[in-house]
Amino acid sequence: MFVKVAFPISAEQVFDYAVPASQVAAVAVGKRVRAPFGGKPQTGCIIAISATTDVENLKEITEIIDTRPLFGARELAFYRWIADYYLYPLGKALHEILPGGKNIRSKKEKTVLRIQTAAVPALTPRQRLVLEAIPEEGASDEVSLATLRRNLGDVRPVLAALVKKGLVEISERETFRPPPRRRQVGPKADRPVPNAGQKAALREIVTSLRRGHFQTFLLHGVTGSGKTEVYLRAMEETRRYGGGVIYLVPEISLTPQLLTRLEGRFGGDNIAVLHSGVSRAVRYDQWRLLESGTLSIAVGARSALFAPVRNLKLIVVDEEHDASYKQDERLPYHARDMAIVRGRLEGATVLLGSATPALQTYFNTTRGKVSLLVMPQRIADRPLPAVELVDMTMEKAIREEGAGAILSRRLLAAIDVTLQRRQQALLLLNRRGYHTFLVCRDCGRPLRCRNCEVSLIHHAGDNRWKCHYCDYSVTGQSVCSHCKSPRIGTYGVGTERLEDEIRARFPAARVRRMDSDTMERQGAHEELLRALGAEEIDILVGTQMIAKGHDFPNVTLVGVVLADTALNLPDFRAAERTFQLLTQVSGRGGRGDHPGQVIIQTFNPGHYALQRAKDHDYEGFYREEAKLRRSLSYPPYARLIQLTLSCPHQTKGDQAAAALAALARKLLTAAEERGGPTVAGPTEAPISRLRGRYRWQILLKGDDSRTVRKLARELLARFHVPGVRIKVDVDPVYFM
Ligand code: ADP
Ligand code: ZN
Ligand code: ZN
Repeated sequence: MFVKVAFPISAEQVFDYAVPASQVAAVAVGKRVRAPFGGKPQTGCIIAISATTDVENLKEITEIIDTRPLFGARELAFYRWIADYYLYPLGKALHEILPGGKNIRSKKEKTVLRIQTAAVPALTPRQRLVLEAIPEEGASDEVSLATLRRNLGDVRPVLAALVKKGLVEISERETFRPPPRRRQVGPKADRPVPNAGQKAALREIVTSLRRGHFQTFLLHGVTGSGKTEVYLRAMEETRRYGGGVIYLVPEISLTPQLLTRLEGRFGGDNIAVLHSGVSRAVRYDQWRLLESGTLSIAVGARSALFAPVRNLKLIVVDEEHDASYKQDERLPYHARDMAIVRGRLEGATVLLGSATPALQTYFNTTRGKVSLLVMPQRIADRPLPAVELVDMTMEKAIREEGAGAILSRRLLAAIDVTLQRRQQALLLLNRRGYHTFLVCRDCGRPLRCRNCEVSLIHHAGDNRWKCHYCDYSVTGQSVCSHCKSPRIGTYGVGTERLEDEIRARFPAARVRRMDSDTMERQGAHEELLRALGAEEIDILVGTQMIAKGHDFPNVTLVGVVLADTALNLPDFRAAERTFQLLTQVSGRGGRGDHPGQVIIQTFNPGHYALQRAKDHDYEGFYREEAKLRRSLSYPPYARLIQLTLSCPHQTKGDQAAAALAALARKLLTAAEERGGPTVAGPTEAPISRLRGRYRWQILLKGDDSRTVRKLARELLARFHVPGVRIKVDVDPVYFM
């Protein structure tokens, strides 16, 4: 018997090995093995088995790591599809996808069983005690050695004696490490009767589920329209017929309310929660429980899409527009796009939901690829919050105090009223830190990271200036490193500074902050969201984290301190992101009995993204944005691949980037394709240096994904310069 093994290496190649006779019975596709590779044992994955091989003198695999396969033929087909689409080697992709890493193994425990005998020989009292604590053969369950020891102390010598007398038998079985306990947030048993809008959406989804063919839906429902209830009912329907479910959420730590609701409906023991906050070992066990069909619901962030759910019939992608579905590092895949691919491969129903669908997804509904379901009303016909734009260029305080004044009189007054009514306010500022950055007032240069061409950001907590892209940080600096001027000033504002300002202005209010600096600790989100739900917080200040999915009825005021932060990024999706963020954060307000109010501060009040967000007009935004994209030939009207080239040496990298772009252009002329791909660049990346490497970007653009990918593949095959790395990003989302 022979196997093909994929290792996590940069080449596409897989390798043949012989299987020693003793291991033949255990061999299966989807198991990891140890095998000699490049002179030492390495971990790889079996992707095929055969009875013959053309290779001579094959080495043997040394060990099979997994007791059960981690995936089956269907998943392998999906993983292959991903690797091919993203131009990523299969072995490396498997290493990214599978939860076990190189070493994690199943846990074993010793169990003890009593053997039935006609007559029990004479025993010491202690021996009798232990024997009676052990279930008899044929009883439902053995007892683990660990349990016996917990209850009776060290029983090993007694057991040894009992084994000798032929009274008990000790064997080994696999155990599964339990997932961490979760705090219950929000009501558990809540199961509202669907309203007319939910029923109409469910009718179509259920029809698709019963038919059992692949179909993709977009559930476009305004914030608070009850989309989650539609997902849950669709899951119930799927489970009724024994189907498996994958439920993706953007960031699971931000959705403790959802987990509580899921547990209420489907039982906590039936759900595998998969995300990076759970240890690898636990994820590995949960994954195997899915593969064996013991669990049939996988919930998690983007990587849960890879889970080996049996008889997969429904994939839910909640907040499908969310940028966190795109992985930027290593295997740069988009979980929403791949959910549709997996649905097609498995014949499953794919349910995408959002109040602010990605332009791409909405575009697909106009092309008949995705079926549109609309829920334009909030539950109980609650009104959407009234949105007001405050023009910060007109604010007197700004003119008088310079950039220091960050809160308009309008917003301050609204906070005041909210506090008086004992209601809660959310304040969004999409920047962490304190004074955003330091600039030299003489030469105008900002204080920058030593390794990355980005400004350092002040953190008052430990009074350091930190890079948000690497670990670099410095303590306060009083002179400019460039011109030695002592006239250093701060510019901009972050959440930390906002928190201080709010505390100073509203000393009686209970203020908390939610951003990636304060939420590092395990369980921090749950605690904060619990406190918000229990009304122990009056004002919550935070980054876009506070915009995500939360449902707190007493939040009536939402303030956006600066809507322009995302608008000015060098990214063709800047307007789309801004519209989504503003609509989502606005949607956090007025979800209870009191109407909500939203105040958005901006220096660009006329911008269509802000105007359409103010009017809750998604379709108006879509029309305007789609027109712009079409005129510029950007997605969804074109396909992009971004090549990012990086090198520690500036001149060498610069030359390599120019050579790579020239090669791309040459390949295109050779192909003489009309309407075929185009090449833009090289340009210096917006972050021109990162972790010590200089960076350039080349953008390939075309109408047809296949021809653009073919060009990229050819470039990668032909272009090798030592010290120069090329990162390929198919359908890029980040352009920094
Ligand atoms: P969305 O995800 O669309 O923003 P949610 O699913 O969070 O909205 O629903 C908002 C609130 O309305 C939740 O508290 C939910 O329990 C409640 N809800 C949903 N459907 C109904 C219904 N049919 N009747 C009453 N309450 C409902
Ligand atoms: Zn840095
Ligand atoms: Zn200077």
